[in-house]
Amino acid sequence: MADPGGAGRRRVVLATRNAHKVRELARILADAGTGVTLAGLDEFPDAPEVPETGLTFADNSLLKARAIAAFTGLPAIADDSGLAVDALHGMPGIFSARWSGKHGDDQANLDLVLGQLADVTQRGAQFICVAALVDGDREQTVTGVLPGSLAREPRGKNGFGYDPIFVPDGEQRTTAELAPDEKDAISHRGRAFRALAPLLAPA
Ligand code: IMP
Repeated sequence: MADPGGAGRRRVVLATRNAHKVRELARILADAGTGVTLAGLDEFPDAPEVPETGLTFADNSLLKARAIAAFTGLPAIADDSGLAVDALHGMPGIFSARWSGKHGDDQANLDLVLGQLADVTQRGAQFICVAALVDGDREQTVTGVLPGSLAREPRGKNGFGYDPIFVPDGEQRTTAELAPDEKDAISHRGRAFRALAPLLAPA
């Protein structure tokens, strides 16, 4: 990603093809004054697709960061995130994107969780994000959590995934009813990326 005035600054690559995540992290790093330039995977079209074969968010984010650090020779950041529902013992968890059996079918995933919770009154849930940094021999992970509960009906048009049914603690609105900057300020990903920012100084 272009970074005005970035000449001579440390380059760090974010292991994602999701332009929204690259912009979000670039904003957070700029706010944190880390002095690094963020590159997205669009600058490395031949970078490998890394299968998410781990059993935890940390496993999967480290798998991605390691592979992209090895491919690019740059420090690499990756994240893995999902929805952990109390009544489902923390599931869909790492399976959030493919809970209904079809990867990335947000509507089917959301409908399945609503169906599973139809008779459940204890509706606590969390969005969780683990961000990993691989910088030479140094590997670090940080976790961001957004606690909340699940609505009975989808509401709102913003965001993606489970946003239309997720109500953060202290809010009446779902995260799909929050403006993007309101969500960034409290989100699991925002929290994890902000915790990662100070770790980006050279070892
Ligand atoms: P990934 O970490 O980008 O692969 O996201 C995994 C899956 O978790 C997404 O496909 C969504 O189903 C869910 N998820 C992660 N973060 C959010 C969020 O901020 N809002 C809604 N769903 C999310």
